[in-house]
Amino acid sequence: MSETSKTSEKNTDLSTLDLGTMEFMKWLISKETDSGNTLIAVKDYFDNKYVILFDKSILKNVIVAYREGMPYCMTCNTDDCGHVGFAICLKQSYDRNGQLDY
Ligand SMILES: [Zn+2]
Repeated sequence: MSETSKTSEKNTDLSTLDLGTMEFMKWLISKETDSGNTLIAVKDYFDNKYVILFDKSILKNVIVAYREGMPYCMTCNTDDCGHVGFAICLKQSYDRNGQLDY
């Protein structure tokens, strides 16, 4: 039973909402410059349901669910990690443009 602590010890680099917001800005720029230099990749987006992100700092898929418009990170079990910050920006971008390129 020694393996339980291992996976949870490696936490994401995106531990705050602000870091997620900054990562979203980088993500937007990287789409245009094709730099690929981001911590987050967007795998799937379902408006008002959930978004699937890939977090390169933990090498895992992260699911953020939109509950009545408020995103909640199923992976970190919180509503104030960087994935949530990223998901908020993603939704705003979707609402503005009516679509998302990822
Ligand atoms: Zn998270």
